[in-house]
Amino acid sequence: MSRRPYVAANWKMNKTASEADEFLDAFLPTQTADGAEVVLCPPWLALQRVAERCAGTPVRVAAQNMFYEDSGAFTGEVSAPMLLDIGVDGAILGHSERRQFFGETDEALARKVPKAIEAGLEPILCVGETQAERESNDTESVLSHQVLTDLAEIHTDDLAKVVIAYEPVWAIGTGLTATPDQAQESCEFIRNLLRSRDPHKAEQVRILYGGSVKPGNAEELLALPDIDGALVGGAALDPADFGAIVAAAPAE
Ligand code: PEP
Repeated sequence: MSRRPYVAANWKMNKTASEADEFLDAFLPTQTADGAEVVLCPPWLALQRVAERCAGTPVRVAAQNMFYEDSGAFTGEVSAPMLLDIGVDGAILGHSERRQFFGETDEALARKVPKAIEAGLEPILCVGETQAERESNDTESVLSHQVLTDLAEIHTDDLAKVVIAYEPVWAIGTGLTATPDQAQESCEFIRNLLRSRDPHKAEQVRILYGGSVKPGNAEELLALPDIDGALVGGAALDPADFGAIVAAAPAE
């Protein structure tokens, strides 16, 4: 089963709308419809600008979070209809920084993921273990809990609409990268969890690796059998570095 490679840029809380424009000036002319699917995830206030500029190009745009209600008394939140209205294609859900600093729970994600799918947004669901969990041999139980809970409420028919990013928390923004064996082992474990839901759909799900991906290590990681792309933080802030990571994705 061939899965189109998928490379996403998580800018986190970086780049004003003007800085996003500078990135796009350099990056967009280098992108073609061949090769990896490319998704930019800017912060809220640059999102509309980036969505407008990427419309009609091969580059797609996702938010970094989304709430599960459409509207109402939820101060500070942003809903699926609001994202769709400005031309956004998807949303990162469950990033470890949201889990760690902002109280994101698997119970909330079990509502956010189906909401995104129902609205027509592509969820990029992030899962991954902390350093302490890896050291106590709990990686598989943590991944099982996250994947099975967060996807519990989606229809099995919709499984392939979800993109999953395996991001070991200890490798995010630290310069530490999972070894190719560690990354492949966890991504294969995640695919096996998906096989327990639907063996056929599981083959179609794109599973990304995230955690200090850079131009120098992307090719090796992206060539692994169960790794279909990357979610990139720090190295995605620079158009040349991010472009090099996109270019390192194997042909489909
Ligand atoms: C991320 O933010 O999802 C991430 C993987 O960050 P970094 O590439 O900086 O480790």
